[in-house]
Amino acid sequence: MDKEPLPGQNSTRMAENDIVGEIARLRAEVARHNDLYYTHAAPEISDREFDELLAKLKALESDNPLFAAMTGTRPSVLPSVDADAKAPHPYLAASPASSVGSDLSDEFESYTHRQRMYSLDNTYSEGELRDFDTRLRKSLAAGAALPYLVEPKLDGASVSLSFENGRFVRAVSRGDAITGDDITRNFSAIAFPRHIAALETVPAIELRGEVFMDRAEFDRINAEQEEAGKPMYMNPRNLAAGTIKLLDPAISARRGLKVILYGIGHHEGISFQSQSALHAKIREWGLPGLPEGYPLRAHGIDEVWQCIQKLDKERKKFPYDTDGAVVKLDDIALQERAGATSKAPRWAIAYKFAPEQAVTRLNAITIQIGRTGVLTPVAELEPVLISGSMVSRATLHNEDEIKRKDIRVGDWVVVEKAGEIIPAVINAVLDKRPADAEPFDFAKHLKALGLDAEREAGQAAWRLRGDSDPELLRRRLRHFASRQAMDIEGMGEAVVNQLVNLGLVKDEADIYALTKHQLLTLEKFAEKSADKLLEAIASSKTRELWRLLHGLGIPQVGAQTAKDLAKEFRSLPALMQASEEELKAIDGVGDIVALSIHAFFARPDKKDIIARLLGNHGLTPAAPEAPAEGDALPLAGKTIVITGTLHSLSRDEAKELIERAGGKASGSVSKKTSYVLAGEEAGSKLTKAQELGIPVIDESELRRMLVSTLPQA
Ligand code: AMP
Repeated sequence: MDKEPLPGQNSTRMAENDIVGEIARLRAEVARHNDLYYTHAAPEISDREFDELLAKLKALESDNPLFAAMTGTRPSVLPSVDADAKAPHPYLAASPASSVGSDLSDEFESYTHRQRMYSLDNTYSEGELRDFDTRLRKSLAAGAALPYLVEPKLDGASVSLSFENGRFVRAVSRGDAITGDDITRNFSAIAFPRHIAALETVPAIELRGEVFMDRAEFDRINAEQEEAGKPMYMNPRNLAAGTIKLLDPAISARRGLKVILYGIGHHEGISFQSQSALHAKIREWGLPGLPEGYPLRAHGIDEVWQCIQKLDKERKKFPYDTDGAVVKLDDIALQERAGATSKAPRWAIAYKFAPEQAVTRLNAITIQIGRTGVLTPVAELEPVLISGSMVSRATLHNEDEIKRKDIRVGDWVVVEKAGEIIPAVINAVLDKRPADAEPFDFAKHLKALGLDAEREAGQAAWRLRGDSDPELLRRRLRHFASRQAMDIEGMGEAVVNQLVNLGLVKDEADIYALTKHQLLTLEKFAEKSADKLLEAIASSKTRELWRLLHGLGIPQVGAQTAKDLAKEFRSLPALMQASEEELKAIDGVGDIVALSIHAFFARPDKKDIIARLLGNHGLTPAAPEAPAEGDALPLAGKTIVITGTLHSLSRDEAKELIERAGGKASGSVSKKTSYVLAGEEAGSKLTKAQELGIPVIDESELRRMLVSTLPQA
């Protein structure tokens, strides 16, 4: 971290304008990343990179107190990251180095904390941790070892819960430390007691803590996203921070958020002698507190260091992510004497654990196409071991990130993996760069791949252009004909590609207009194969309704949602006429999905395709049979996760059997899983099932459970 001299260290050689310019540039950059992290929960850089940027700014400001003290009005245009640092800057925005990153948004009522909600200073170095102790002992004139607590640093979003006379009254985000957003409505499904008898005599108390999400819940939500063809979330922290700021509380309620309390704000009618007494009370009141065995007590900084090592070992077993240790003075009288800066208390510090990194070679940059046409660059790496698993691919996020980091094919790159997070390329090792490595030209690369894409103004992502893009059309049709959708046998990738390339099929409806004569022009097609494909196309006309819905590729609608919609609306015209409110009444359909369905059916090209499918070509998709009253299916209410290789069934067949028996097939194991159906070479899902004590069954046991619904032979 401190190998490179910090800009502030050569400040004597820097011209005044340069310093002011550099401070302005760094302030703007830190402010931009703060906004991405706190307001949008969508950071572009890792925590570590952010902390380094902030450290750079702090060093420069503390070396140049006069310039650092200069602030001015904020112009409408912030200096860009590549702004010429030599140009004089007429103003300086207030420094984010001495204020808390704000999460405030206009969508919520604001609430002024009755006591400021601080951030924490942080460090990655043992030396700086020891400096913290030295500073404290000096300022408190305490020669001897100070009493500390070591707590896990939970990786979520801070929140303040207010109780008045024992009743929970509101939950507020940190905001800008002074005022936060009232996010109470997003707390309805978070478990903690709303009434605490022991606090009935306490007029007001603000308890501070962290809202976060277990890794298993994060996996479950991402599995759902994947199934619905929606973008995956980056990590549990961003998802948790985004969820408490959702405008639709029904969606937040469906995502298993948790809260853990570890601190105190304003309080009257009650007092605490120590931080450990507060932790004990939090437990006693039945509120969620730190994990069993925490906080750790440490007498002096040497013991603090030992406790941090212990926590680093144990935290891997926690079901949620932690990114460091928070070291706090235990004695509240001492805390008060130590005081605080405008940003953080002087009596606490966060020691952050560095995420695991490795250096490896970047062999190629490939493009991943999402179902909605978003193009994500992926680093194809020489496989390398990080945090116990082999990593051969990592995300490069988007064009701007590749440019900003100047990542080139052939480079040695630093790859980072923290917890369950998708591995990411952090930077290139410049002194190992091959002489012939060229800057990566994203647009040229897409062109070379034959991808017709565009980047809308203000968006970081490139997207395939409209539906006329032949690659998108090929993907759409392959999906339409696939086994998970219309199940048209014989219409695989090679056939679809030819149909599109020859201009015989321009959309889904054209499939049903194909003639034998046309099919005979395809490679490897003779009388028999043409007849067979025509038959398969004809028999797909009466497939179940959900298959058609899924096959049409409505953004946000995966197989499960398609089934739920088919069950409720029972015909395509009925679904097309449904209002957003009616759509939202369906389990699993929130604001975004409802809007997406509406937008899809509003498109003239889609309306035309559907009219031709149902009209000209006479498709009569089958509505699901309504189960007879009192028909108890053997797997009703059960959720089953399939893992490993099955012998007598394909995965899709197993899924279908489970669903026909009233059960639900899910992608990830959680406490709510009823059974895990394990085949050969079952991997982590099996291990997880065993850890959670979930019954594991094999194919024959599944069949036994299903006897009553299997077709009678
Ligand atoms: P930062 O997000 O870098 O400002 O770090 C400070 C934040 O760490 C606080 O605002 C809390 O949200 C969070 N945090 C997590 N665990 C703890 C803990 N045990 N004590 C205090 N703060 C914590």
